[in-house]
Amino acid sequence: NRQMLLDNRPQGEASASNFKLVETDTPALQEGQVLVRHHYLSLDPYMRGRMNESKSYAASQALGEVMIGGTVGEVVESRHPDYAVGNHVVGMGGWQEYSVVNANEPGMMRKVDTSRVPLSAYLGAVGMPGVTAYYGLVHIIDPKPGQTVTVTAASGAVGSAYAALAKARGCRVVGIAGGPDKCRYAEQELGFDACLDYRAYNSDVYALAKALKEVCPDGIDGHFENVGGWIMDAIMLRANAFSRIALCGMIAGYDGQPIPMANPALMLINRMRVEGFIVSEHMQVWPAALKELGELVATGKLRARESIAQGLESAPDAFLGMLKGQNFGKQLVKLI
Ligand code: NDP
Repeated sequence: NRQMLLDNRPQGEASASNFKLVETDTPALQEGQVLVRHHYLSLDPYMRGRMNESKSYAASQALGEVMIGGTVGEVVESRHPDYAVGNHVVGMGGWQEYSVVNANEPGMMRKVDTSRVPLSAYLGAVGMPGVTAYYGLVHIIDPKPGQTVTVTAASGAVGSAYAALAKARGCRVVGIAGGPDKCRYAEQELGFDACLDYRAYNSDVYALAKALKEVCPDGIDGHFENVGGWIMDAIMLRANAFSRIALCGMIAGYDGQPIPMANPALMLINRMRVEGFIVSEHMQVWPAALKELGELVATGKLRARESIAQGLESAPDAFLGMLKGQNFGKQLVKLI
């Protein structure tokens, strides 16, 4: 079993030298345990925060241990009556090729049906990122049909699910993403009514705000923030009175970069509701969210793209690339 460990903590920007690849034997199973062979590993921005020692909403990743991460795979050995060899499962197996799961512990693993939804989608649109989009849109932004809602990192795992969910609620949905290819894909494949390439505006808040005015002629009623910094400032300038911001991520600052806010007074002037959230603290919404997202994927209404790196050894570079926008859609690592 090959495993990727966190070897040392980043000083500023994370690098491949923070990780270490090792090989171990899988232990013999005890009663109630299941051995899972991972097909895909999910790479997610939250992992960057776990690499730091600083205080956050979640505990740091321990040094010398397998990196935390979501996985999908198949049961290859079972000593639990509910799991049979060949069952497809999703869990938190970590950056490794196999994991031994205590199947009696609640929330460790669940079986998934791959007849209508591909296995890998359970790490993206029909998994944690999809539910994240759902929670922010449905429970924080709570849009009315006809309202305009926006999202940053629009072509990514969360952004792509957000578009499908917002269209299903009759919204005008506008994205912001990096580069013309991602924007074209967002408009042509994901159902965005418009997508702006922030790179074309060279960190000029007012130029981006002006472009937003053209694609959001009625202003912005709800915004889903994934990035932070000057792009969020531009959104704030177009936000309507009583608009809502679901504050999901601020990836522009994950390596420790400052992300100052130019006009915080707009929150007051516009009587805005700005609410941060962590999707794993809202387990009660997961069943309804996964049901809707599964249906959207199964019926072809949500066709989320994936970036697939090959082999565990490629995980560090794929992860670091994703933090810089080199992924195109949900970033995965194929392990077999
Ligand atoms: P994505 O698939 O969207 O990948 C990350 C994307 O972030 C990159 O592709 C890039 O897109 C964009 N990005 C990176 N750096 C910058 C930058 N400096 N400026 C602008 N854009 C940047 O990842 P996910 O969909 O998995 O996650 C999206 C966000 O949601 C993240 O911030 C993540 O932390 C957050 N999240 C929060 C959760 C919660 O519970 N609160 C749960 C899950 C995710 P581009 O090329 O378009 O710039």
